[in-house]
Amino acid sequence: MPKKTTVRDYIRTIVDFPHEGIMFRDVTTLFADARGFRMAIDQMLHPYAGMRIDKVVGLEARGFILGGAIAHQLSVGFVPIRKKGKLPGAVISEHYTLEYGEAVVEIHDDAIQPGEKILVVDDLLATGGTAAAGIKLVERLGGEIVSCAFVIDLPDLGGRRVLEKLGMDVHALCEFE
Ligand code: IMP
Repeated sequence: MPKKTTVRDYIRTIVDFPHEGIMFRDVTTLFADARGFRMAIDQMLHPYAGMRIDKVVGLEARGFILGGAIAHQLSVGFVPIRKKGKLPGAVISEHYTLEYGEAVVEIHDDAIQPGEKILVVDDLLATGGTAAAGIKLVERLGGEIVSCAFVIDLPDLGGRRVLEKLGMDVHALCEFE
């Protein structure tokens, strides 16, 4: 096997998952490798050196793994955005459209204070629908989003443009076609 030198090298592709024709980019192989995982967290943090970040918001589920490690490194709190019905306290919700149907994401209504500087984290940016819904939740609570950080961008699906239209700064460590 060739030597792994970049974060991208640690990402595995599973063909036809979850359905035929989909090339699923699997970051569990990145997370499972000590060097790969540390490289990813360090590189995701790099653009924000010296910037104020008060909280990290992670999108379910792989955004929790990345976001937790990033929050720990920054010594700030972590806030989850979860799929409908998972959070125990009072929530606000956002609906968004998926390839097939609709999804709902939620955040605890007291998780962010107005004016807090927020970094939004997930593993992969595809159409941008999930991240856009998360951004709306954070902004409805008065959070000011510093940036959105991903391991992977799928540029063909246009998510970066969607987020940039919402005024977001977007960073991704690598791209897949
Ligand atoms: P979007 O809402 O279309 O941007 O899709 C992004 C969401 O779907 C993220 O939460 C990703 O975790 C998930 N996702 C979509 N495709 C993949 C993939 O190939 N690998 C891992 N996650 C994916």
